[in-house]
Amino acid sequence: MSHTIEKTSILLIYTGGTIGMMKNPVTGALENFNFDQLLKYVPEIEGFNLNIYSIAFEPPIDSSDISPESWSELVRIIYSNYEKYDGFVILHGTDTMAFTASALSFMLEELTKPVILTGSQLPIGALRTDGKENLLTAIEIAAAKHEDGTPVVPEVCVFFHEKLMRGNRTTKISAENFDAFESNNYPLLAHSGIELQFYEQNILPYRSDAVLTPHYAMDPNIIIFSLFPGMQPDIVKKILRDKKLRGVIFRTFGSGNAPQQQWLIDGLTRATQSGKTIVNITQCSTGSVKMSLYETGRQLLESGIISGHDSTVEAALTKLMFLLGQGLNAEEIRNSMNSSLAGEITL
Ligand code: ASP
Repeated sequence: MSHTIEKTSILLIYTGGTIGMMKNPVTGALENFNFDQLLKYVPEIEGFNLNIYSIAFEPPIDSSDISPESWSELVRIIYSNYEKYDGFVILHGTDTMAFTASALSFMLEELTKPVILTGSQLPIGALRTDGKENLLTAIEIAAAKHEDGTPVVPEVCVFFHEKLMRGNRTTKISAENFDAFESNNYPLLAHSGIELQFYEQNILPYRSDAVLTPHYAMDPNIIIFSLFPGMQPDIVKKILRDKKLRGVIFRTFGSGNAPQQQWLIDGLTRATQSGKTIVNITQCSTGSVKMSLYETGRQLLESGIISGHDSTVEAALTKLMFLLGQGLNAEEIRNSMNSSLAGEITL
């Protein structure tokens, strides 16, 4: 199947991040500059046969400051511009890009247009910047259409350093390499070398009957808890008993194992019985949770913990915030955690 780029409209949404920063000549620190300044460094954009418009967060933010409110704002921008544009490119800091991409994949239910997040490790004004390449290719991907006019990539993705990845499968893996993101448990959706090669079999199919349903509510009353040898019962039990706490992303050893200590099993059982959702994901960067494999995992299953399958921490966290935000009951949350909502887990 060939991919053609027609006169298509793309909305660039600039949130901030290194890509749009510049060195302050006095302090030497990186500071945000505005979107028009950013575009001056990429005159190549004019070379596209596309209508490209932009909108920016005011002020732009370092992605360490991204919050569920920022995700709702992105959903609002995309939803209110959905009919006008064929695709969306979000410029975002790399530090929390995988969280934002994961969150948007759940909040933009029934998405049928490309939403491509990208950023860079070096500012776009720097001589050796990776920002230009990332931005230009992200635009090309957002604009790519099949001969019948349907988008090639109708889902939320991260494009970074030659790789197009499903957004809710990504993790930032390097604070210094240009190749900064990985999709450990799912293959690439495209590779950009001399040619932009799409791997159609890995991309969610386009559905002509789907109607975008935006969601804005996320419940952030959850934590990520990573197991380690030597955990202290008092501290852990106190966290699990917290009244406001509604869920835990529980990062276990290997294929989903925890120490066989009665205080832990009892604490977890009490937490799940009181309506808290506990999701088991592995601390390993590849592979899946299989709680029935070892006795140490089977006990967790019996305490009411849900498998997070091969979820990234970013996808498990934002999925749980999303499901809690929908006001679902514990059983409905369990069912949804065990289903793939946007290609985030392999079943
Ligand atoms: N601190 C920056 C951010 O995430 C890093 C980057 O963009 O690469 O906003």
